[in-house]
Amino acid sequence: MTTPAFSICVYLGSRPGTNGRFAELATTVGQWIGERGGQLVYGGGCSGLMGTVAEATRVAGGRVVGIIPQSLVDKELANRLCDELHIVTSMHERKALMAERSDAFVALPGGIGTLEELFEIWTWRQLGYHDKPVGVLDADGYYTQMFDFLRHAQGCGFMDAWQMNLVRVGDDPHTLLQALTAAARAG
Ligand code: AMP
Repeated sequence: MTTPAFSICVYLGSRPGTNGRFAELATTVGQWIGERGGQLVYGGGCSGLMGTVAEATRVAGGRVVGIIPQSLVDKELANRLCDELHIVTSMHERKALMAERSDAFVALPGGIGTLEELFEIWTWRQLGYHDKPVGVLDADGYYTQMFDFLRHAQGCGFMDAWQMNLVRVGDDPHTLLQALTAAARAG
């Protein structure tokens, strides 16, 4: 096996969502990873946007690492086309292994599973458990209201600007992925 140029964890919906732009975005992200000889680390399913990013990465020549808990193997249709498919015993094990195997993290549109994964990796960064770059791809304004709320939390004194600045936000996949992988290389 050749060593991938980089390894990036993508958090995104296990459903496709109602806006076709989101699937296009997941495809673009997968292609970007594959065309640069990168490795995708993700939740290991075939459903929704998760399946879309994995297939686009694979077709573009990238490496795909899927990590899925046994309890979700049927529900999220475990992706047997992964170069590595890890079937783990719990969500905690899944998230820990996803974090360990990745140089950077990016969240695309998704539901509460995606949000939970994003907030966990963000809080791990604020606590100094890791120093890997974290990004949010805010396509079609999907995350705009979440950031409005977080600024409200900041205004209420529950967060500081430095915590907000631990996450890079962008609406252009190429620019954001380039920034995250460059920051990961710079260490
Ligand atoms: P969703 O954004 O809700 O569609 O979920 C996206 C992914 O996050 C799916 O693979 C879910 O299985 C996963 N997920 C949901 N809840 C959790 C959790 N508590 N911890 C880790 N992953 C989760």
